[in-house]
Amino acid sequence: DRHPDPQFEPDPTKKTLVILGTGWGSVALLKKLDTENYNVVVVSPRNYFLFTPLLPSCTTGTIEHRSIMEPVRTILRHKKAAVKFYEAEASSIDPDRKIIKVVDNSEIQGATCETEIPYDMLVIGVGAENATFGIPGVREHSCFLKEIGDAQQIRKKIMDCVETAAFKGQTSEEIERLMHMVVVGGGPTGVEFAGELQDFFEEDIKKLVPEISPRFKVTLIEALPNVLPSFSKQLIDYTENTFREEKIDIKTKTMVKKVTETTVEAEISRPDGGKEHVVIPYGLLVWATGNAVRPIIKDLMTKIPAQKDSRRGLAVNEYLVVQGTRDIWAIGDCAVAGYAPTAQVASQEGNFLGRLFNNMAKTEDHESRIQELSSRMNLQSGNSAEAAHEIERLEKQLRRIKDIKPFRYSHQGSLAYIGSEKAVADVSWWNGNLATGGSMTYLFWRSAYLSMCFSTRNRVLVLLDWLKSKAFGRDVSRE
Ligand code: FAD
Ligand code: NAD
Repeated sequence: DRHPDPQFEPDPTKKTLVILGTGWGSVALLKKLDTENYNVVVVSPRNYFLFTPLLPSCTTGTIEHRSIMEPVRTILRHKKAAVKFYEAEASSIDPDRKIIKVVDNSEIQGATCETEIPYDMLVIGVGAENATFGIPGVREHSCFLKEIGDAQQIRKKIMDCVETAAFKGQTSEEIERLMHMVVVGGGPTGVEFAGELQDFFEEDIKKLVPEISPRFKVTLIEALPNVLPSFSKQLIDYTENTFREEKIDIKTKTMVKKVTETTVEAEISRPDGGKEHVVIPYGLLVWATGNAVRPIIKDLMTKIPAQKDSRRGLAVNEYLVVQGTRDIWAIGDCAVAGYAPTAQVASQEGNFLGRLFNNMAKTEDHESRIQELSSRMNLQSGNSAEAAHEIERLEKQLRRIKDIKPFRYSHQGSLAYIGSEKAVADVSWWNGNLATGGSMTYLFWRSAYLSMCFSTRNRVLVLLDWLKSKAFGRDVSRE
Protein backbone atom coordinates (compact mmCIF):
# COMPACT_ATOMS: atom_id res chain seq x y z
CA ASP A 1 0.00 0.00 0.00
CA ARG A 2 1.55 3.23 -1.18
CA HIS A 3 1.25 6.54 0.59
CA PRO A 4 1.27 9.75 -1.41
CA ASP A 5 4.48 11.70 -0.93
CA PRO A 6 3.57 14.09 1.91
CA GLN A 7 6.29 16.59 1.07
CA PHE A 8 5.54 16.91 -2.58
CA GLU A 9 2.14 17.86 -3.76
CA PRO A 10 2.76 19.01 -7.31
CA ASP A 11 1.02 22.24 -8.24
CA PRO A 12 -1.52 21.14 -10.92
CA THR A 13 -1.25 24.50 -12.69
CA LYS A 14 2.47 23.94 -13.38
CA LYS A 15 4.31 21.49 -15.57
CA THR A 16 6.51 18.85 -13.94
CA LEU A 17 10.13 19.19 -15.01
CA VAL A 18 12.28 16.17 -14.19
CA ILE A 19 16.06 16.59 -14.29
CA LEU A 20 18.31 13.53 -14.30
CA GLY A 21 21.82 13.87 -12.85
CA THR A 22 23.68 16.27 -10.58
CA GLY A 23 26.76 16.82 -12.73
CA TRP A 24 28.03 19.81 -14.66
CA GLY A 25 25.06 20.04 -17.03
CA SER A 26 22.17 19.51 -14.60
CA VAL A 27 23.61 21.72 -11.86
CA ALA A 28 24.23 24.60 -14.29
CA LEU A 29 20.59 24.26 -15.37
CA LEU A 30 19.40 24.25 -11.74
CA LYS A 31 21.46 27.31 -10.96
CA LYS A 32 19.85 29.28 -13.78
CA LEU A 33 16.31 27.94 -13.50
CA ASP A 34 13.47 29.92 -11.93
CA THR A 35 12.07 27.00 -9.99
CA GLU A 36 8.81 28.83 -9.27
CA ASN A 37 7.64 28.17 -12.80
CA TYR A 38 7.68 24.35 -12.66
CA ASN A 39 7.30 21.42 -10.29
CA VAL A 40 10.99 20.55 -10.37
CA VAL A 41 12.17 17.03 -9.53
CA VAL A 42 15.86 16.06 -9.55
CA VAL A 43 16.90 12.41 -9.67
CA SER A 44 20.51 11.31 -9.27
CA PRO A 45 22.36 8.49 -7.50
CA ARG A 46 24.85 11.12 -6.31
CA ASN A 47 23.55 13.67 -3.80
CA TYR A 48 26.37 16.07 -4.58
CA PHE A 49 27.97 17.99 -7.42
CA LEU A 50 31.58 16.99 -8.17
CA PHE A 51 34.14 19.47 -9.46
CA THR A 52 35.88 16.98 -11.79
CA PRO A 53 38.83 19.17 -12.93
CA LEU A 54 40.45 18.74 -9.51
CA LEU A 55 39.66 15.03 -9.15
CA PRO A 56 43.16 13.90 -10.25
CA SER A 57 44.58 15.86 -7.28
CA CYS A 58 42.44 13.76 -4.88
CA THR A 59 44.20 10.54 -5.92
CA THR A 60 47.35 11.55 -4.09
CA GLY A 61 45.84 13.62 -1.30
CA THR A 62 46.99 17.01 -2.64
CA ILE A 63 43.31 17.86 -2.25
CA GLU A 64 40.91 16.08 0.10
CA HIS A 65 37.87 14.73 -1.73
CA ARG A 66 35.22 16.59 0.26
CA SER A 67 36.75 19.91 -0.78
CA ILE A 68 35.50 19.42 -4.35
CA MET A 69 32.03 18.11 -3.50
CA GLU A 70 28.98 20.31 -3.00
CA PRO A 71 25.82 18.75 -1.56
CA VAL A 72 22.78 19.05 -3.81
CA ARG A 73 20.66 19.82 -0.77
CA THR A 74 22.72 22.97 -0.14
CA ILE A 75 22.41 24.00 -3.77
CA LEU A 76 18.63 23.50 -3.76
CA ARG A 77 18.11 25.30 -0.46
CA HIS A 78 18.89 28.59 -2.20
CA LYS A 79 16.23 28.19 -4.87
CA LYS A 80 13.10 30.37 -4.71
CA ALA A 81 10.63 27.48 -4.87
CA ALA A 82 11.17 24.04 -3.36
CA VAL A 83 12.74 21.39 -5.57
CA LYS A 84 12.27 17.70 -4.88
CA PHE A 85 15.43 15.59 -4.85
CA TYR A 86 15.46 11.79 -4.99
CA GLU A 87 18.75 9.97 -4.50
CA ALA A 88 18.15 7.25 -7.06
CA GLU A 89 19.13 6.06 -10.49
CA ALA A 90 16.78 6.36 -13.44
CA SER A 91 16.61 2.82 -14.78
CA SER A 92 14.40 3.41 -17.83
CA ILE A 93 12.58 6.15 -19.68
CA ASP A 94 9.25 5.64 -21.41
CA PRO A 95 8.87 8.53 -23.88
CA ASP A 96 5.36 7.44 -24.90
CA ARG A 97 3.85 7.32 -21.40
CA LYS A 98 6.13 10.16 -20.25
CA ILE A 99 7.30 8.27 -17.21
CA ILE A 100 10.69 7.38 -15.80
CA LYS A 101 11.41 4.40 -13.59
CA VAL A 102 13.77 5.08 -10.70
CA VAL A 103 15.62 2.71 -8.37
CA ASP A 104 17.40 3.36 -5.09
CA ASN A 105 20.61 1.36 -5.45
CA SER A 106 22.29 2.81 -2.36
CA GLU A 107 23.44 0.67 0.57
CA ILE A 108 20.41 1.42 2.71
CA GLN A 109 17.03 0.77 1.15
CA GLY A 110 13.56 1.22 2.52
CA ALA A 111 10.51 -0.91 1.82
CA THR A 112 10.02 1.16 -1.33
CA CYS A 113 13.14 1.31 -3.42
CA GLU A 114 11.66 1.42 -6.90
CA THR A 115 9.04 3.78 -8.27
CA GLU A 116 7.83 5.72 -11.30
CA ILE A 117 7.89 9.47 -11.84
CA PRO A 118 5.72 11.12 -14.49
CA TYR A 119 7.06 14.14 -16.35
CA ASP A 120 5.82 16.84 -18.67
CA MET A 121 9.36 17.90 -19.52
CA LEU A 122 12.52 15.79 -19.05
CA VAL A 123 16.16 16.85 -19.06
CA ILE A 124 18.73 14.07 -19.28
CA GLY A 125 22.15 14.94 -17.87
CA VAL A 126 23.41 11.51 -16.78
CA GLY A 127 26.93 11.87 -18.21
CA ALA A 128 28.83 8.89 -19.55
CA GLU A 129 30.51 5.79 -18.23
CA ASN A 130 34.09 4.59 -18.67
CA ALA A 131 35.03 3.13 -22.03
CA THR A 132 36.77 -0.26 -21.88
CA PHE A 133 36.16 -1.29 -25.53
CA GLY A 134 35.45 -4.79 -24.22
CA ILE A 135 39.16 -5.33 -23.57
CA PRO A 136 39.42 -8.41 -21.34
CA GLY A 137 40.37 -7.85 -17.70
CA VAL A 138 39.94 -4.06 -17.64
CA ARG A 139 36.82 -3.95 -15.45
CA GLU A 140 38.15 -6.58 -13.06
CA HIS A 141 41.66 -5.29 -12.51
CA SER A 142 41.98 -1.57 -13.18
CA CYS A 143 40.91 1.60 -11.44
CA PHE A 144 38.98 4.30 -13.30
CA LEU A 145 39.11 8.01 -12.56
CA LYS A 146 35.64 9.48 -12.87
CA GLU A 147 34.01 9.56 -9.45
CA ILE A 148 35.09 10.33 -5.89
CA GLY A 149 35.13 6.61 -5.03
CA ASP A 150 37.61 6.00 -7.87
CA ALA A 151 40.02 8.64 -6.55
CA GLN A 152 39.77 7.20 -3.02
CA GLN A 153 40.44 3.69 -4.32
CA ILE A 154 43.51 4.87 -6.24
CA ARG A 155 44.86 6.76 -3.21
CA LYS A 156 44.53 3.64 -1.11
CA LYS A 157 46.08 1.37 -3.73
CA ILE A 158 49.13 3.58 -4.31
CA MET A 159 50.05 3.32 -0.64
CA ASP A 160 49.20 -0.39 -0.56
CA CYS A 161 51.65 -0.96 -3.42
CA VAL A 162 54.33 1.08 -1.66
CA GLU A 163 53.88 -0.64 1.73
CA THR A 164 53.73 -4.10 0.10
CA ALA A 165 56.90 -3.37 -1.87
CA ALA A 166 58.58 -2.38 1.42
CA PHE A 167 57.56 -5.67 3.08
CA LYS A 168 60.39 -7.66 4.65
CA GLY A 169 62.01 -10.03 2.18
CA GLN A 170 60.03 -8.83 -0.85
CA THR A 171 61.73 -10.12 -4.01
CA SER A 172 63.41 -7.64 -6.31
CA GLU A 173 61.16 -8.60 -9.21
CA GLU A 174 58.06 -8.09 -7.09
CA ILE A 175 59.27 -4.69 -5.82
CA GLU A 176 59.76 -3.65 -9.44
CA ARG A 177 56.23 -4.70 -10.34
CA LEU A 178 54.53 -3.18 -7.29
CA MET A 179 56.27 0.15 -7.79
CA HIS A 180 55.27 0.29 -11.45
CA MET A 181 52.23 2.55 -11.87
CA VAL A 182 50.69 2.19 -15.33
CA VAL A 183 48.22 4.69 -16.81
CA VAL A 184 46.35 3.73 -19.99
CA GLY A 185 45.03 6.61 -22.11
CA GLY A 186 46.98 9.76 -22.92
CA GLY A 187 43.99 12.13 -22.91
CA PRO A 188 43.84 14.92 -20.31
CA THR A 189 42.66 12.54 -17.53
CA GLY A 190 45.62 10.15 -17.99
CA VAL A 191 48.14 12.98 -18.39
CA GLU A 192 46.95 14.90 -15.32
CA PHE A 193 46.90 11.78 -13.19
CA ALA A 194 50.41 10.73 -14.29
CA GLY A 195 51.68 14.23 -13.41
CA GLU A 196 50.05 14.18 -9.96
CA LEU A 197 51.43 10.71 -9.27
CA GLN A 198 54.99 11.69 -10.15
CA ASP A 199 54.68 14.78 -7.89
CA PHE A 200 53.52 12.58 -5.01
CA PHE A 201 56.50 10.35 -5.48
CA GLU A 202 59.07 13.16 -5.81
CA GLU A 203 57.70 15.29 -2.98
CA ASP A 204 56.62 12.69 -0.43
CA ILE A 205 57.17 8.98 -1.05
CA LYS A 206 60.85 9.44 -1.90
CA LYS A 207 61.46 11.01 1.52
CA LEU A 208 59.22 8.70 3.52
CA VAL A 209 60.15 5.34 1.98
CA PRO A 210 63.65 5.95 0.59
CA GLU A 211 64.71 2.30 0.49
CA ILE A 212 62.44 1.38 -2.41
CA SER A 213 62.13 4.75 -4.11
CA PRO A 214 64.61 4.08 -6.98
CA ARG A 215 62.15 1.45 -8.25
CA PHE A 216 59.16 3.80 -8.51
CA LYS A 217 58.11 4.33 -12.12
CA VAL A 218 55.12 5.80 -13.93
CA THR A 219 54.31 4.64 -17.48
CA LEU A 220 51.69 6.32 -19.65
CA ILE A 221 50.40 4.20 -22.52
CA GLU A 222 48.65 5.80 -25.51
CA ALA A 223 47.41 4.11 -28.69
CA LEU A 224 47.85 7.23 -30.89
CA PRO A 225 51.22 8.72 -31.95
CA ASN A 226 51.03 11.39 -29.23
CA VAL A 227 49.37 12.30 -25.94
CA LEU A 228 46.79 15.10 -25.51
CA PRO A 229 45.45 14.82 -29.07
CA SER A 230 43.06 17.74 -28.56
CA PHE A 231 45.82 20.22 -27.66
CA SER A 232 48.04 22.14 -30.09
CA LYS A 233 51.23 20.53 -31.41
CA GLN A 234 53.47 22.87 -29.45
CA LEU A 235 51.82 21.88 -26.15
CA ILE A 236 51.92 18.18 -27.01
CA ASP A 237 55.70 18.49 -27.50
CA TYR A 238 56.02 20.53 -24.31
CA THR A 239 54.07 17.92 -22.32
CA GLU A 240 56.05 15.00 -23.74
CA ASN A 241 59.36 16.74 -23.01
CA THR A 242 58.28 17.64 -19.47
CA PHE A 243 57.25 14.03 -18.86
CA ARG A 244 60.64 12.85 -20.06
CA GLU A 245 62.33 15.26 -17.61
CA GLU A 246 60.01 14.05 -14.84
CA LYS A 247 61.02 10.47 -15.79
CA ILE A 248 57.50 9.48 -16.75
CA ASP A 249 57.81 6.86 -19.46
CA ILE A 250 55.48 7.61 -22.40
CA LYS A 251 54.68 4.69 -24.66
CA THR A 252 52.80 6.01 -27.69
CA LYS A 253 51.50 3.93 -30.63
CA THR A 254 50.90 1.26 -28.01
CA MET A 255 47.46 -0.32 -27.84
CA VAL A 256 46.49 -2.28 -24.74
CA LYS A 257 44.79 -5.54 -25.73
CA LYS A 258 44.47 -7.46 -22.48
CA VAL A 259 44.79 -6.91 -18.76
CA THR A 260 45.52 -9.53 -16.10
CA GLU A 261 45.81 -9.13 -12.32
CA THR A 262 49.50 -8.26 -12.58
CA THR A 263 50.21 -7.44 -16.23
CA VAL A 264 49.13 -5.31 -19.18
CA GLU A 265 49.49 -6.86 -22.62
CA ALA A 266 49.92 -4.39 -25.45
CA GLU A 267 50.77 -4.16 -29.13
CA ILE A 268 53.36 -1.59 -30.20
CA SER A 269 53.25 -0.31 -33.79
CA ARG A 270 56.87 -0.13 -34.94
CA PRO A 271 58.10 2.54 -37.41
CA ASP A 272 58.65 -0.18 -40.07
CA GLY A 273 54.93 -1.03 -39.88
CA GLY A 274 55.46 -4.21 -37.88
CA LYS A 275 53.78 -5.04 -34.57
CA GLU A 276 55.43 -6.00 -31.33
CA HIS A 277 53.66 -7.73 -28.43
CA VAL A 278 54.75 -6.63 -24.96
CA VAL A 279 53.81 -7.78 -21.46
CA ILE A 280 54.15 -5.08 -18.82
CA PRO A 281 53.94 -6.00 -15.12
CA TYR A 282 52.23 -3.41 -12.92
CA GLY A 283 51.31 -2.69 -9.31
CA LEU A 284 48.61 -0.10 -9.97
CA LEU A 285 46.71 0.27 -13.23
CA VAL A 286 44.59 3.32 -13.99
CA TRP A 287 42.36 3.12 -17.05
CA ALA A 288 41.52 6.49 -18.64
CA THR A 289 40.48 5.82 -22.24
CA GLY A 290 37.50 8.15 -22.39
CA ASN A 291 33.72 7.83 -22.42
CA ALA A 292 31.13 5.21 -23.31
CA VAL A 293 27.33 5.54 -23.54
CA ARG A 294 25.37 4.63 -20.38
CA PRO A 295 22.89 1.70 -20.63
CA ILE A 296 19.87 3.95 -19.87
CA ILE A 297 20.78 6.12 -22.88
CA LYS A 298 21.37 3.11 -25.14
CA ASP A 299 17.96 1.76 -24.08
CA LEU A 300 16.22 5.08 -24.80
CA MET A 301 17.92 5.29 -28.20
CA THR A 302 16.33 1.97 -29.20
CA LYS A 303 12.88 3.39 -28.35
CA ILE A 304 13.21 6.46 -30.60
CA PRO A 305 13.39 5.68 -34.34
CA ALA A 306 15.14 9.02 -35.09
CA GLN A 307 18.06 7.91 -32.87
CA LYS A 308 18.78 4.69 -34.74
CA ASP A 309 22.02 6.01 -36.27
CA SER A 310 23.32 7.63 -33.08
CA ARG A 311 26.34 5.91 -31.61
CA ARG A 312 28.00 8.22 -29.09
CA GLY A 313 24.88 9.42 -27.28
CA LEU A 314 21.53 11.13 -27.81
CA ALA A 315 21.53 13.26 -30.96
CA VAL A 316 20.04 16.67 -30.12
CA ASN A 317 18.96 19.64 -32.24
CA GLU A 318 20.24 23.22 -31.84
CA TYR A 319 17.85 23.75 -28.90
CA LEU A 320 19.19 20.56 -27.26
CA VAL A 321 15.89 18.73 -27.83
CA VAL A 322 16.48 15.00 -28.29
CA GLN A 323 15.87 14.29 -31.99
CA GLY A 324 12.60 12.44 -32.51
CA THR A 325 11.03 13.68 -29.24
CA ARG A 326 9.18 16.84 -28.16
CA ASP A 327 9.58 17.11 -24.42
CA ILE A 328 12.99 15.57 -23.79
CA TRP A 329 16.23 17.54 -23.74
CA ALA A 330 19.77 16.14 -23.29
CA ILE A 331 22.89 17.94 -22.07
CA GLY A 332 26.54 17.17 -21.36
CA ASP A 333 28.39 13.93 -22.01
CA CYS A 334 25.24 11.92 -22.84
CA ALA A 335 24.23 14.32 -25.64
CA VAL A 336 25.71 14.60 -29.11
CA ALA A 337 25.55 18.25 -30.12
CA GLY A 338 28.82 18.38 -32.06
CA TYR A 339 31.07 19.40 -29.17
CA ALA A 340 33.69 17.62 -27.04
CA PRO A 341 32.49 15.91 -23.85
CA THR A 342 33.75 18.53 -21.41
CA ALA A 343 32.54 20.30 -18.29
CA GLN A 344 32.68 23.59 -20.17
CA VAL A 345 30.26 22.35 -22.82
CA ALA A 346 27.94 20.65 -20.29
CA SER A 347 27.66 23.74 -18.09
CA GLN A 348 27.01 26.08 -21.03
CA GLU A 349 24.30 23.69 -22.26
CA GLY A 350 22.71 23.56 -18.79
CA ASN A 351 22.81 27.31 -18.53
CA PHE A 352 21.20 27.62 -21.97
CA LEU A 353 18.34 25.30 -20.99
CA GLY A 354 17.81 27.26 -17.78
CA ARG A 355 17.32 30.45 -19.80
CA LEU A 356 15.17 28.62 -22.35
CA PHE A 357 12.83 27.20 -19.69
CA ASN A 358 12.58 30.55 -17.91
CA ASN A 359 11.61 32.10 -21.23
CA MET A 360 9.13 29.36 -22.03
CA ALA A 361 7.40 29.96 -18.68
CA LYS A 362 7.31 33.73 -19.30
CA THR A 363 5.90 33.11 -22.78
CA GLU A 364 3.07 31.00 -21.42
CA ASP A 365 2.40 33.55 -18.71
CA HIS A 366 2.29 36.43 -21.21
CA GLU A 367 0.13 34.50 -23.66
CA SER A 368 -2.46 33.68 -21.01
CA ARG A 369 -2.51 37.32 -19.82
CA ILE A 370 -2.99 38.56 -23.38
CA GLN A 371 -5.83 36.07 -23.82
CA GLU A 372 -7.41 37.15 -20.56
CA LEU A 373 -7.16 40.85 -21.45
CA SER A 374 -8.59 40.29 -24.94
CA SER A 375 -11.61 38.40 -23.64
CA ARG A 376 -12.18 41.10 -21.01
CA MET A 377 -11.97 43.73 -23.75
CA ASN A 378 -14.63 41.90 -25.73
CA LEU A 379 -16.94 41.75 -22.73
CA GLN A 380 -16.66 45.30 -21.40
CA SER A 381 -15.69 48.14 -23.66
CA GLY A 382 -14.99 50.62 -20.77
CA ASN A 383 -11.25 50.23 -20.19
CA SER A 384 -10.49 48.95 -23.64
CA ALA A 385 -7.89 51.61 -24.50
CA GLU A 386 -5.91 50.77 -21.40
CA ALA A 387 -6.23 47.04 -22.03
CA ALA A 388 -5.22 47.44 -25.66
CA HIS A 389 -2.15 49.34 -24.55
CA GLU A 390 -1.25 46.61 -22.07
CA ILE A 391 -1.75 43.93 -24.73
CA GLU A 392 0.53 45.82 -27.09
CA ARG A 393 3.20 46.06 -24.37
CA LEU A 394 2.92 42.35 -23.56
CA GLU A 395 3.07 41.36 -27.23
CA LYS A 396 6.21 43.39 -27.70
CA GLN A 397 7.82 41.69 -24.72
CA LEU A 398 6.62 38.34 -25.97
CA ARG A 399 8.29 38.79 -29.35
CA ARG A 400 11.56 39.53 -27.56
CA ILE A 401 11.21 36.54 -25.22
CA LYS A 402 10.25 34.19 -28.04
CA ASP A 403 13.28 35.21 -30.07
CA ILE A 404 15.60 32.66 -28.42
CA LYS A 405 18.72 32.00 -30.41
CA PRO A 406 19.84 28.38 -30.74
CA PHE A 407 22.59 27.07 -28.46
CA ARG A 408 26.09 28.11 -29.43
CA TYR A 409 29.13 26.92 -27.51
CA SER A 410 31.77 29.49 -26.71
CA HIS A 411 35.15 27.85 -26.12
CA GLN A 412 37.11 29.47 -23.31
CA GLY A 413 40.20 27.31 -23.80
CA SER A 414 41.72 24.07 -22.54
CA LEU A 415 43.90 23.68 -19.47
CA ALA A 416 45.76 20.69 -18.07
CA TYR A 417 48.18 20.13 -15.20
CA ILE A 418 51.23 18.08 -16.24
CA GLY A 419 53.17 17.74 -12.95
CA SER A 420 56.20 19.45 -11.35
CA GLU A 421 54.22 22.67 -11.01
CA LYS A 422 53.71 23.06 -14.76
CA ALA A 423 50.52 23.27 -16.77
CA VAL A 424 49.57 23.66 -20.44
CA ALA A 425 46.88 25.99 -21.76
CA ASP A 426 45.27 26.60 -25.13
CA VAL A 427 43.23 29.75 -24.58
CA SER A 428 41.44 32.29 -26.74
CA TRP A 429 43.24 35.59 -26.59
CA TRP A 430 42.32 38.80 -28.46
CA ASN A 431 40.44 36.95 -31.21
CA GLY A 432 43.34 34.55 -31.59
CA ASN A 433 44.70 31.52 -29.78
CA LEU A 434 47.45 31.42 -27.22
CA ALA A 435 49.26 28.18 -26.44
CA THR A 436 51.39 28.36 -23.30
CA GLY A 437 53.07 25.94 -20.94
CA GLY A 438 55.15 26.21 -17.78
CA SER A 439 55.13 27.56 -14.26
CA MET A 440 53.22 30.77 -15.02
CA THR A 441 50.57 28.67 -16.75
CA TYR A 442 50.47 26.55 -13.60
CA LEU A 443 49.62 29.64 -11.52
CA PHE A 444 46.98 30.52 -14.10
CA TRP A 445 45.65 26.92 -13.90
CA ARG A 446 45.42 27.14 -10.13
CA SER A 447 43.71 30.52 -10.08
CA ALA A 448 41.33 29.57 -12.91
CA TYR A 449 40.21 26.37 -11.17
CA LEU A 450 39.98 28.09 -7.82
CA SER A 451 37.69 30.73 -9.26
CA MET A 452 35.59 28.06 -11.00
CA CYS A 453 34.97 26.07 -7.80
CA PHE A 454 31.28 25.72 -7.08
CA SER A 455 31.08 27.67 -3.82
CA THR A 456 33.13 29.88 -1.55
CA ARG A 457 33.26 26.95 0.85
CA ASN A 458 34.87 24.75 -1.85
CA ARG A 459 37.27 27.54 -2.76
CA VAL A 460 38.46 27.98 0.82
CA LEU A 461 38.82 24.22 1.35
CA VAL A 462 40.83 23.73 -1.86
CA LEU A 463 43.11 26.63 -1.00
CA LEU A 464 43.68 25.26 2.51
CA ASP A 465 44.39 21.77 1.09
CA TRP A 466 47.02 23.22 -1.25
CA LEU A 467 48.66 25.09 1.61
CA LYS A 468 48.44 22.07 3.89
CA SER A 469 50.06 19.64 1.46
CA LYS A 470 52.79 22.18 0.66
CA ALA A 471 53.57 22.85 4.33
CA PHE A 472 53.24 19.36 5.82
CA GLY A 473 53.43 17.03 2.82
CA ARG A 474 50.60 14.78 1.67
CA ASP A 475 49.01 12.42 4.15
CA VAL A 476 50.19 8.90 3.29
CA SER A 477 48.02 7.02 5.79
CA ARG A 478 46.13 4.25 4.05
CA GLU A 479 42.53 4.51 5.20
P1 FAD B 1 28.57 14.38 -15.10
O1 FAD B 1 29.22 15.58 -14.55
O2 FAD B 1 29.37 13.12 -15.20
O3 FAD B 1 27.26 14.09 -14.24
C1 FAD B 1 26.40 13.03 -14.50
C2 FAD B 1 25.41 12.93 -13.37
O4 FAD B 1 24.40 11.98 -13.68
C3 FAD B 1 26.04 12.47 -12.05
O5 FAD B 1 25.48 13.18 -11.00
C4 FAD B 1 25.63 11.01 -11.99
O6 FAD B 1 25.58 10.53 -10.67
C5 FAD B 1 24.24 11.08 -12.60
N1 FAD B 1 23.72 9.82 -13.15
C6 FAD B 1 24.40 8.79 -13.69
N2 FAD B 1 23.54 7.81 -14.06
C7 FAD B 1 22.30 8.24 -13.75
C8 FAD B 1 21.00 7.69 -13.88
N3 FAD B 1 20.81 6.48 -14.42
N4 FAD B 1 19.95 8.40 -13.44
C9 FAD B 1 20.11 9.64 -12.88
N5 FAD B 1 21.32 10.21 -12.75
C10 FAD B 1 22.39 9.52 -13.17
N6 FAD B 1 36.14 18.94 -18.43
C11 FAD B 1 36.58 20.21 -18.58
O7 FAD B 1 35.96 20.98 -19.33
N7 FAD B 1 37.68 20.65 -17.94
C12 FAD B 1 38.39 19.86 -17.10
O8 FAD B 1 39.40 20.27 -16.53
C13 FAD B 1 37.94 18.52 -16.89
N8 FAD B 1 38.61 17.69 -16.08
C14 FAD B 1 38.15 16.41 -15.89
C15 FAD B 1 38.86 15.56 -15.05
C16 FAD B 1 38.43 14.26 -14.85
C17 FAD B 1 39.19 13.36 -13.94
C18 FAD B 1 37.27 13.79 -15.52
C19 FAD B 1 36.78 12.39 -15.31
C20 FAD B 1 36.58 14.63 -16.38
C21 FAD B 1 37.02 15.94 -16.58
N9 FAD B 1 36.35 16.80 -17.44
C22 FAD B 1 36.79 18.09 -17.60
C23 FAD B 1 35.16 16.34 -18.18
C24 FAD B 1 33.90 16.72 -17.41
O9 FAD B 1 33.97 16.29 -16.07
C25 FAD B 1 32.67 16.10 -18.06
O10 FAD B 1 32.61 16.45 -19.41
C26 FAD B 1 31.42 16.59 -17.33
O11 FAD B 1 31.39 16.06 -16.03
C27 FAD B 1 30.15 16.22 -18.07
O12 FAD B 1 29.07 16.74 -17.36
P2 FAD B 1 27.67 15.96 -17.33
O13 FAD B 1 26.74 16.82 -16.56
O14 FAD B 1 27.29 15.52 -18.69
O15 FAD B 1 27.99 14.62 -16.54
P1 NAD C 1 40.01 10.97 -23.99
O1 NAD C 1 38.95 10.35 -24.81
O2 NAD C 1 40.30 12.40 -24.15
O3 NAD C 1 41.38 10.20 -24.17
C1 NAD C 1 41.46 8.78 -24.11
C2 NAD C 1 42.75 8.32 -24.78
O4 NAD C 1 42.89 6.92 -24.60
C3 NAD C 1 42.74 8.58 -26.28
O5 NAD C 1 43.85 9.39 -26.60
C4 NAD C 1 42.82 7.17 -26.89
O6 NAD C 1 43.63 7.13 -28.05
C5 NAD C 1 43.45 6.36 -25.77
N1 NAD C 1 43.13 4.93 -25.84
C6 NAD C 1 41.91 4.38 -26.08
N2 NAD C 1 42.00 3.02 -26.04
C7 NAD C 1 43.28 2.70 -25.77
C8 NAD C 1 43.98 1.47 -25.59
N3 NAD C 1 43.37 0.30 -25.68
N4 NAD C 1 45.31 1.52 -25.33
C9 NAD C 1 45.94 2.70 -25.22
N5 NAD C 1 45.33 3.91 -25.36
C10 NAD C 1 44.01 3.92 -25.63
O7 NAD C 1 39.61 10.62 -22.45
P2 NAD C 1 39.81 11.46 -21.11
O8 NAD C 1 41.20 11.92 -20.96
O9 NAD C 1 39.22 10.64 -20.03
O10 NAD C 1 38.88 12.71 -21.33
C11 NAD C 1 37.47 12.59 -21.49
C12 NAD C 1 36.86 13.95 -21.77
O11 NAD C 1 37.01 14.79 -20.61
C13 NAD C 1 37.55 14.69 -22.91
O12 NAD C 1 36.61 15.43 -23.63
C14 NAD C 1 38.49 15.64 -22.21
O13 NAD C 1 38.73 16.81 -22.94
C15 NAD C 1 37.75 15.94 -20.91
N6 NAD C 1 38.75 16.23 -19.86
C16 NAD C 1 39.32 17.46 -19.86
C17 NAD C 1 40.31 17.76 -18.94
C18 NAD C 1 40.95 19.11 -18.97
O14 NAD C 1 40.52 19.96 -19.73
N7 NAD C 1 41.95 19.36 -18.16
C19 NAD C 1 40.71 16.80 -18.00
C20 NAD C 1 40.12 15.54 -18.05
C21 NAD C 1 39.14 15.26 -19.00
